[in-house]
Amino acid sequence: MSDINPHAEQHSALRRPVRELCRQFDSHYWQQVEEQRTYPEAFVRALTEAGWLAALIPEEYGGAGLSVTEASVILEEINRSGANSGACHAQMYIMGALLRHGSPEQKQTYLPRIASGELRLQSFAVTEPSTGTDTTKTKTFARRKGDCYVVHGQKVFISRVQHSDLMLLLARTTPLAEVRKKTEGLSIFLVELQQAIGRWLTVRPIRNMVNQETNELFFDNLEIPFENLIGAEGQGFRYILDGMNAERILIAAECIGDGYWFIDKARAYANERVVFDRPIGQNQGIQFPIARAYANVRAADLMRYAAAQLFDAGQPCGAEANMAKLLAADASWEAANVCLQTHGGFGFAAEYDVERKFRETRLYQVAPISTNLILAFLSEHVLGLPRSY
Ligand SMILES: Cc1cc2nc3c(=O)[nH]c(=O)nc-3n(C[C@H](O)[C@H](O)[C@H](O)COP(=O)(O)OP(=O)(O)OC[C@H]3O[C@@H](n4cnc5c(N)ncnc54)[C@H](O)[C@@H]3O)c2cc1C
Repeated sequence: MSDINPHAEQHSALRRPVRELCRQFDSHYWQQVEEQRTYPEAFVRALTEAGWLAALIPEEYGGAGLSVTEASVILEEINRSGANSGACHAQMYIMGALLRHGSPEQKQTYLPRIASGELRLQSFAVTEPSTGTDTTKTKTFARRKGDCYVVHGQKVFISRVQHSDLMLLLARTTPLAEVRKKTEGLSIFLVELQQAIGRWLTVRPIRNMVNQETNELFFDNLEIPFENLIGAEGQGFRYILDGMNAERILIAAECIGDGYWFIDKARAYANERVVFDRPIGQNQGIQFPIARAYANVRAADLMRYAAAQLFDAGQPCGAEANMAKLLAADASWEAANVCLQTHGGFGFAAEYDVERKFRETRLYQVAPISTNLILAFLSEHVLGLPRSY
């Protein structure tokens, strides 16, 4: 049967090797990782060694210097294979802050080592327990003291800390009460994790619905050298916003990969499972939901390419990037539901992988940005409706 993704032959120089690599990490591998609730270390190492996680690092620093469109194809193929990019995707989109706002020295110090796999930059610490999505109310504070900053505060749901060497941290450097605009007075830092953990940084894992290792973090007077401040003090919120379009597009592509995976899985099962002496897929009650979910994945995929092309052309793409993330997350979630329903009871059996992917793709309705916040962005910034929060 031909590929249900009409773009399957585009970017084939990327798609083929990523598919081949992912083939080595089959259903059995992911089930073991899930059962043991471990980190897919071998998978992430293989991706790193093949250079895929350095896709967005410019060639002069040892990366592949690819576009966001191409990087999105890599993540799409990973999820399409049944794997989970969530273990390592952040390295691609966190990189943007360092690339765009890092000093030449910072780039020279870190980027070649990240590109070679010597260092991992897979953690970013933005969310806080008491402020949630209201990021400008960030309470974690970095106080300047001589040639360093001293950080005190708390973060929540910070992923991959145990598997990363570096973490991007957002903290207040000027109290909210003292800034002209609430978006000012926030700064971003690169934290060298291994030196900090267990001393000035306590990490408490949060057991959760997916096998994504995520944590509560407690900063107790952690000293960060001044040279690890990225860009200008007080401009960190703007730098985080700058990276959001790329993040939205890359996450949309993961959802598209998931969507096609669910549709493939559902149509295969609907063709082969015989009940009442005929394949269940012969019933319109089974085939129509699969067809509808497929149409929605295809439509979302078009928005993802539209957003990625604008991004790569250096044009404004906030609306398209947000819509791509929204539509792709909805489409993958619909496809997940349809796939589970098509499998009946077997959809609940871990060995079919459907229930695992179902849980994994559900996350994209909430993280890294929740659906409501995207709708609020579109309402206010695209449709000119009153700000709702
Ligand atoms: C597995 C996992 C991994 C994560 N990894 C990271 C990470 O590595 N780094 C990191 O910084 N964060 C991470 N997060 C956090 C994630 O980004 C947040 O959970 C998400 O942004 C939502 O924030 P919140 O949980 O505080 O929800 P809240 O802000 O408390 O919101 C709760 C609900 O209310 C809705 N809501 C809030 N305000 C409004 C409004 N004005 N209008 C309409 N609806 C509203 C939200 O959409 C949401 O559905 C992770 C989360 C999970 C679950």
